[in-house]
Amino acid sequence: MSSRILITGGAGFIGSHLSERLLAEGNEVICVDNFFTGARANIEHLFGNPRFEVLRHDVTFPLYVEVDQIYNLACPASPVHYQHDPVQTTKTSVVGAINMLGLAKRLRVPILQASTSEVYGDPAVHPQTEEYWGNVNPIGPRSCYDEGKRAAETLFFDYRRQHDLDIKVIRIFNTYGPRMHPNDGRVVSNFIVQALRGEPITMYGDGSQTRSFCYVDDLVDGMVRLMGTGHDVTGPINVGNPGEFTMLELAQAVLEITGSRSSIEYRPLPQDDPRQRQPDITRARRELGWEPTVALASGLQSTVDYFRHALAA
Ligand code: NAD
Ligand code: UDP
Ligand code: UDP
Repeated sequence: MSSRILITGGAGFIGSHLSERLLAEGNEVICVDNFFTGARANIEHLFGNPRFEVLRHDVTFPLYVEVDQIYNLACPASPVHYQHDPVQTTKTSVVGAINMLGLAKRLRVPILQASTSEVYGDPAVHPQTEEYWGNVNPIGPRSCYDEGKRAAETLFFDYRRQHDLDIKVIRIFNTYGPRMHPNDGRVVSNFIVQALRGEPITMYGDGSQTRSFCYVDDLVDGMVRLMGTGHDVTGPINVGNPGEFTMLELAQAVLEITGSRSSIEYRPLPQDDPRQRQPDITRARRELGWEPTVALASGLQSTVDYFRHALAA
């Protein structure tokens, strides 16, 4: 059955892919975005679809629409962007969550929160299970994002306890793919853009820190599966690819796929940069029947193809 679905942050990297997927399934999609990091270019191929609608709106202000489901993705996600205006980042996570939860409460509809592996901070438990409470600095440069997302999770679970809302909290691990912003400073886009331009690869620290990279189509599938679960499934649920790589290994893979001869240039490690990260996806396997299907090499190939095209345009 088709639904009318609200996606906040729908013009962003993940939101645009989610919009595509939900439209392809025959739903109506209302994309709400203030275009801080989102772009018209990410969604303009959807403008011709009569089931797609865009509202320029900031989620820190109340929103009155009538929908059947809400995906709350609005929030800058890269360290460069979320640290640009950190007060607005916290407001977006916290006040934005309150407004979207108020909307879900009035409509009595399910609401999914795009939470993050950053709630685990610089994790002392490896790989990270949902039971782990995390290791987050409350006053550092990453805190606006980490603590904002943690407070949003608190709000989701309190609306559940107080108002019995149908909440779904997904903890997204590093995701990559076409339509990443070329200048948002994230490692996959940085390395690919640098390799394609023949510029030095900027390696922060010694490159031994790890991340686990999930291709965007796999992530979107996990989000849709979680939204499709019953009232009893709230999460939090980790969704990410357990394949763990050092940043040096990532650089090597990007150099091989692009055929680039860029050198590697070492830079200081940013403050509070997590040393390691890998999702334990036992719960996603059990409750969603989900696991990633796209290996890093093939996901990187699609992403490189996208950037080759985007940079030439
Ligand atoms: P993105 O920056 O591409 O998208 C975020 C979107 O939210 C943008 O379109 C932006 O304009 C919009 N936005 C920001 N503030 C807003 C506001 N106040 N009101 C309305 N719209 C606003 O980032 P993304 O990678 O697509 O991330 C989407 C969501 O997934 C975010 O909530 C992010 O925290 C979460 N997430 C992403 C990753 C990842 O690796 N990409 C990992 C964990 C969690
Ligand atoms: N809200 C909204 N759209 C709605 C309903 C509520 O944006 O359709 C906002 C509203 O501005 C409120 C917030 O959601 O501040 C929280 O709503 P809730 O009903 O939980 O709280 P209250 O209205 O009692 O403060
Ligand atoms: N990183 C890097 N070079 C870059 C950008 C990032 O070495 O040009 C490192 C960064 O220090 C971190 C990892 O890559 O250890 C992932 O960074 P990103 O900003 O993509 O995501 P996050 O730190 O939020 O997981």
